Amino acid sequence: MGNRTIGLAVAESLQVWRGKVQGLSTEELVTWAWQTFGSRVALASSLGLEDQVLTDMVSRLTPQMAVFTLDTGRLFPETYDLLHRTRTHYGLDIRVFFPDARDLEEVVSSFGPNLFRESVALRKRCCHVRKVLPLRRALAGLGAWICGLRKEQSSAREDIQTVEWDEANSLVKINPLADWTEAEVWAYIREHGVPYNALHDKGFPSIGCACCTRAVQPGEDCRAGRWWWEAPDKKECGLHWRDGKLVSR
Ligand code: SF4
Repeated sequence: MGNRTIGLAVAESLQVWRGKVQGLSTEELVTWAWQTFGSRVALASSLGLEDQVLTDMVSRLTPQMAVFTLDTGRLFPETYDLLHRTRTHYGLDIRVFFPDARDLEEVVSSFGPNLFRESVALRKRCCHVRKVLPLRRALAGLGAWICGLRKEQSSAREDIQTVEWDEANSLVKINPLADWTEAEVWAYIREHGVPYNALHDKGFPSIGCACCTRAVQPGEDCRAGRWWWEAPDKKECGLHWRDGKLVSR
């Protein structure tokens, strides 16, 4: 994002941090994040492949760092299995944030459990209650968060930077895997024996809520299995903003 919308002090800090992280390896970057922000930085994991790579690094390099995930209440059984396996494998207390029960009662009572199929607006409302609001609670009090976004994942992510300002949540966002390719992610997973979602071996490159994710056919875009009934430009869940626009996840 441009520096015009952020305070001068933040812009100056960003410049300094970007200078410091230039040339660092991904592992060094994770360590730098901990040394710079201490207990005010956390890894946000969706339990996707990239986040599993980062969880592996955090467990080895900065095991004191908080790791959290969001349970929307509509995840695949395989995803819950992975959460359990990851906690056991690394001995990490991965904190789980849930939707607010009253918010959920209100939205489901008003529009039904499958409101996301009714309209894009209702789908976004479901994502807001089940993902965006819990994320806000998870980020409260933090100075920075770490994500597994990669430039290669979509055109909307082409210009992500390793260290950037998250305007929507008013904190620093660190993307240690920004320059990684999908092949590099898989190579790391295999080399380090990182636990991953069994659905990845069944045609699911991108995994979200069970009711909003399907397998893709060979050659299909990796995002084709998410909210497949919507036009591609509507596919976002409100978790990631870039230059004032939502980026799908
Ligand atoms: Fe709701 Fe689907 Fe969004 Fe999950 S992905 S929060 S079920 S609309």
